[in-house]
Amino acid sequence: MLDYNQALQDLLSMVDVQDKTQDVELYDAINLILAEAVTAQYDSPLFSNSAMDGYALGSDSEQSTHWEIVDRVIAGDNVEHIHLREGQAARIFTGAPIPIGTVTVVQQELCQVENSILTVTKSIKKGQNIRQKGEEFQKNASLLQKGQKLNPAIISIIASQGYSQIKTFKPLNIVVFSTGNELIDQKTPLTLGKIYDANRFMLLNWLKQLRHHIIDGGILPDNAERTEQALLKASQSADIIITSGGVSVGEEDHVLNTVKKIGEMVFWKLAIKPGKPFAWGKIKKSKIFMLPGNPVSSLVTFQQLVVPALRVIAGESVEKSMPNYLMAKADFVFNKAHGRREFLRVHLYPKDDGLHVKKASHQGSAMLAALIDSNALAEIPPNTIVSENDLVKVYPLTY
Ligand code: AMP
Ligand code: MG
Repeated sequence: MLDYNQALQDLLSMVDVQDKTQDVELYDAINLILAEAVTAQYDSPLFSNSAMDGYALGSDSEQSTHWEIVDRVIAGDNVEHIHLREGQAARIFTGAPIPIGTVTVVQQELCQVENSILTVTKSIKKGQNIRQKGEEFQKNASLLQKGQKLNPAIISIIASQGYSQIKTFKPLNIVVFSTGNELIDQKTPLTLGKIYDANRFMLLNWLKQLRHHIIDGGILPDNAERTEQALLKASQSADIIITSGGVSVGEEDHVLNTVKKIGEMVFWKLAIKPGKPFAWGKIKKSKIFMLPGNPVSSLVTFQQLVVPALRVIAGESVEKSMPNYLMAKADFVFNKAHGRREFLRVHLYPKDDGLHVKKASHQGSAMLAALIDSNALAEIPPNTIVSENDLVKVYPLTY
């Protein structure tokens, strides 16, 4: 059985980045990946402007004691015609351009005005409350690199530079199958021995959130021929195929054998709990990720292995695609040391002495309800005992 860290490293170094790109409107760019670097078209700020509501004071203001208010500038005004001279001031508002001749801006709380004559109640320093043109960055500065994931903050920076469209990598075409004779969809009446398909809905919705193009492959029966037909057909159009179930060693587990027959199985079986029977491979040009059937195993392997792999394929760097973790103190004891790395469902929360994790009460790999109160996975390395307050590695759930 392969160690989790080794498997993740192997997987991320073996998958290749897709190269299809598209132009998208900025309002539809969330979570897509930049396919080209972005440079500044303009200085930022674009022009020197006021950081406060107050008064712009004319030259030699340090010596003066009062000023005549000669103008008024609001955000959006053009001030090319205004020139403040010694002893002159202009009413000014946040974001308004600074008139020529301005030495400083004084915030309105420090000003008194009577009959258009301004006095300032505190000593004045030059250059205050002015956001200088280009002080943040200058035209042609390199702002964003290819491979950057577009979050709302990043999108606002691109918008502030006057771009209305941006080049991103194309979403991946991903076909999702569930497998198992016991699975039925939610519209079919329940009979003994059958269960409702849960995994496909987790995966389709999660992938949708990652902005991929999803194709619902439905439920495959435990039948070698049907599995082969479905996977071959999917491989004609899919960049990625994701299955759950049917990857163990039972004679009704057909996915693995089918992939071995019509494609290539790259690895199978991880030293993790839950999630041991995770596998991945290739069928023609498609990559296939085979998740275990148990819903919690499916979720753990999807988050800890498939999401990072999809990020790399979709255009992000290997470094950025590694799952993020933090350290937190265990509120529990874990004394069943065994050879597999375990990912416990936990609730991460802050306390006076830092972050803590509470273990969910049902840790079975079929027990989805433990996820209702969980927001993270705590990693227990192989052959490790954890005492209360020991620091453990915690991976926040990323959906
Ligand atoms: P398998 O990996 O096919 O042996 O399945 C392991 C367990 O997970 C069995 O109890 C299956 O019934 C269950 N299972 C498999 N696929 C799903 C699914 N899509 N939704 C819910 N449970 C599933
Ligand atoms: Mg099965």
